[in-house]
Parts: sequence; structure tokens; C-alpha cells
Amino acid sequence: MTLDKILEEIKKAETIVISAHESPDGDALGSCMAMKLILEQMGKKPTVIIPEYSRLFKFLPKIEEVKKDSEVEIYDLAISLDCANLSRLVGKEYFEKAKRTIVIDHHGSNNMYGDLNYVNPASPSCCEILAVIIEYFGINITKDIGTCIMTGIITDTGGFRHKSTNAETFEFAAELLRKGVDISGIYKKTLRTNTTANFLLTKKVMDRMEVLEDGKVTYTYITLEDEKEVKAEPGDHEGLVEIGRDIEGVEVSIFVRQTEENTYKISLRSGEYVNVSDVCLMFGGGGHPRAAGATIQGTLEEVKERILKEVEKAL
Ligand code: 5GP
Ligand code: MN
Repeated sequence: MTLDKILEEIKKAETIVISAHESPDGDALGSCMAMKLILEQMGKKPTVIIPEYSRLFKFLPKIEEVKKDSEVEIYDLAISLDCANLSRLVGKEYFEKAKRTIVIDHHGSNNMYGDLNYVNPASPSCCEILAVIIEYFGINITKDIGTCIMTGIITDTGGFRHKSTNAETFEFAAELLRKGVDISGIYKKTLRTNTTANFLLTKKVMDRMEVLEDGKVTYTYITLEDEKEVKAEPGDHEGLVEIGRDIEGVEVSIFVRQTEENTYKISLRSGEYVNVSDVCLMFGGGGHPRAAGATIQGTLEEVKERILKEVEKAL
């Protein structure tokens, strides 16, 4: 059983590094911090490497101990969380050099790049997988571990709204609530709090939104210039892709964000039937059936045309 092997590797390792996908969201950060606390309970001293994250997540227990870079070159064990492939992993150089590697994830597009891979696409969040692992390992779920895990569950299920939310999600939430985890507070801090820059970007994204394909598709974008203008910080673009998706009749929402000259990150969301992970795979990206992304090179016009063409095909 993979979980027994994972436990064995953790027990053997003296130095452990933990990281997650770039532009880490609540699930990526929650998973890393939960894993850190779990390993500490097992007597380990893991290093979490995440150079940048939204300040909205400052409330996560021990997040101040996260490192921007590593002091160790070769770790006994590297653990990747919530990350479908190695190219998206923060600190991938440490993962590549590590003696043993473990991947724990819930992306259907995960390409199993670890020595040990525990991937469950049916799980709504990586944090929910960690909840299963904790139980298997016989670890005591403290309020702090619960806070980290609940952050991933809330953010990746959009506050228990997405179809991926299952009965176990609610059962686990009830268990954490009994342990004193402030579900309502985490909800408020992650989903109902916007930074000023996020608010200003929202205005731009709404102004520019085009409704296409008989109201089934929305398209919008932001440029580096826009982010500079509103003094955007890491994570300030989070949630902008949801705006189009929530309009009546819209099946696919397309949000394009410039990350460099001639480089654009696309985010797709769908409502009922379009598999946006498949659409993004066409561009070397991936994700989940209803939420996915990719990076495309070209001018903004070229990127728009290419992505619209694939979305039209998928409709
Ligand atoms: P977002 O649109 O919020 O950046 O990402 C939505 C989902 O797609 C997340 O689960 C994220 O991990 C995944 N995703 C986003 N961009 C990429 C990408 O370039 N490659 C892969 N494989 N997954 C991505
Ligand atoms: Mn996730």
C-alpha cells in the first residue's frame, strides 16, 4: 500500500523539503502547512519552500517559518503537494536532487513524477487527501492542523459550492468544527476578503469582459501594466476567472493574465459539461475538469484567438 511506503520513507528521512505549485492558492499553502505540522508531530524538522504567496494567507499557523529558498542542497526526502507536474513545482531543483520523492495530489492530469505517488482525482482538495493520510498515520489532528486543512477544503471547493464537494468533505468539516476550527473565520479571510488591488483588477476585468458564443463563453484579461497600476501583489488576481463563470448561461469563462512580455497564463472555468482540463492539455497545461490553466506564448491577440478556437471546439 502506497501510504505504508510513504510512512516508511518519512520515518527514514532526516531532512525533508515540502513545496507545492507556483502561484500557491489556499489548497497548496494549506497542504504545505498541514504537512509541516504533521511531520513535526512525528519528530521531524521539515523545510517548506514557497517564495511568494498572497498576504491573505498570513493567518495560517507557522506560515512565518516558510522559507524563500533552501539552505540544504540535497534532501533525504522531497514532498510535492497539490502539484500536477514537475515543471509547475516551486523549488523543483530540490525535488530533482532529493534522494527520495513523494507526490500527493488531486489533479487528474498528474503525471506521477515522484518515486511514490498518492493521487486521487476524486478528492475535491489536496488537503482532504491529507486528512485521510493523517487518519491512516494515526496523527492527532490539532486545531492548527485542522485550520490548514480547512483552508484548502474551503478554497478548492469554493466554500463547499463546487460539485467536487462530497459527503466526506462535510463529515470532515463537522469533525474539525468540533475541534474548534473557525470555519466561518477561514471562509471570511479566504473567500470574502479582497485586497484593494484585487478589487481594482475586478473592475478592469468586468469592464473588458466579452460575452461570446451566444452567451456561453466569456473572455477577459489583465496585463503587466494593469497589475503595476493597481500595485498588485502575489495572489491579487485570484478569483477573477470566477466572475465570468457565474453569469447565467455561461459555460466557459476564460481569463488571461500576462506574466511576461509575450507570455500569458490562461485560467479556465466551466459550468456543467466542458472539460477545461482537456482544453488546457492542448497547450501543455492541465488541472481539473471544471478548473484548469496553461501558459501560452504569443501576443495577447494570438493567445485569445488560440484559446477561443479550442474552447469553441469543446462546447
Ligand atoms: P488557476 O486557474 O486557479 O490558476 O488553476 C486552476 C487549476 O488548474 C488548479 O488546480 C491548477 O493547479 C491547475 N493549473 C493551472 N495552471 C496549470 C498549468 O499550467 N499546468 C497544469 N498542469 N495545471 C495547471
Ligand atoms: Mn488543489
